[in-house]
Amino acid sequence: MENKHNSTQRKIIHIDMDAFYASVEQRDHPEYRGKAIVVGGSPEGRGGVVATASYEARKFGVRSAMPSKRALQLCPHLIFVRPRFDAYKEASRKIREIFARYTDLIEPLSLDEAYLDVTTDKQQIRSAIEIAKLIKQAIRDELQLTASAGVSVNKFVAKIASDLNKPDGLTFIGPSAIEAFMEQLPVEKFHGVGKVTADKMKRMGLFTGKDLKQLSEQELKSHFGKTGAFYYRIVRGIDDREVQPHRETKSLGAEDTFPYDLTETGEMHAELEKIARIVYERLQRYQLKGRTVTLKIKYSDFRQITRNQSFAQPVGDLETIISTAKQLLAATWPEDKRIRLLGITLSNFGELSVPDKYQHPAQLSLFDFDE
Ligand SMILES: [Mg+2]
Repeated sequence: MENKHNSTQRKIIHIDMDAFYASVEQRDHPEYRGKAIVVGGSPEGRGGVVATASYEARKFGVRSAMPSKRALQLCPHLIFVRPRFDAYKEASRKIREIFARYTDLIEPLSLDEAYLDVTTDKQQIRSAIEIAKLIKQAIRDELQLTASAGVSVNKFVAKIASDLNKPDGLTFIGPSAIEAFMEQLPVEKFHGVGKVTADKMKRMGLFTGKDLKQLSEQELKSHFGKTGAFYYRIVRGIDDREVQPHRETKSLGAEDTFPYDLTETGEMHAELEKIARIVYERLQRYQLKGRTVTLKIKYSDFRQITRNQSFAQPVGDLETIISTAKQLLAATWPEDKRIRLLGITLSNFGELSVPDKYQHPAQLSLFDFDE
């Protein structure tokens, strides 16, 4: 992207490794190459979930965050591989060394994904597309892995672009193409729009960016709260968020707003188990354990409370997260309440268990798994 017209325009690259954990396993174990494999929990145990599926497994419909049992039903010859986080962290560290040849403005989102601001690059290459090509080539030559890159003038568009031609893609969406691109984009592709919000939008007759654009900022805010203002800007291609190289994780969690209020304890427990599983997978992914488990409850009248329990030793296993969340819930007398949102967060990681600041994100969306 050349800056002929606007010298303040930024050059942002989003790099996303292709099926990262599975690709590292296929690289290190030739017997897995060309095979349908998943990295993740065993289908025999309780709570096993797919962290990453190889592209061969995706052909059978196997996806990240899917229970391993279900994955095995879809693909009976699927090979389950236990994660080797040390190998993924090592690859991730090397990838970041490659990024650092071009810029210090690197914002990792996870082990396998990062934003780079190359508005001014260390080697005076000046073209973000050229830098993205060089980075992809170096990752291929030095690590025998593939990455997909999205190049644009802001984070939002760069991230969507990196996902368009996976695997091994490079997609550039220039300033003059952004508005048209955003107009045709289905609402569920807007990251930050979860399934519940996407369904709500569709009920309102909003299917694409173009539909969203018909609404005023005030209308969007009244329907979608604070995020409405973000949608208003983003659909016009406006995203001023900076690439932040020094974010640190203080907590890690997940929450869900339900399409209807929960009134049965059994339903609440089932939802807590689902949320706990997502939190558990994220803890695994970042190799974290926390000393504090926090339960968040929002009632039908929007009143919100949090309850937490701290442990002498860091915890990170699924059973403990579920049982603690259920105990915290029981102490709020949920039997006569109407609950619209539940969330579980782990925090208080302690210095020893926190990987270096480059290794995990401050914010994770509900399904923040490998693509
Ligand atoms: Mg990825």
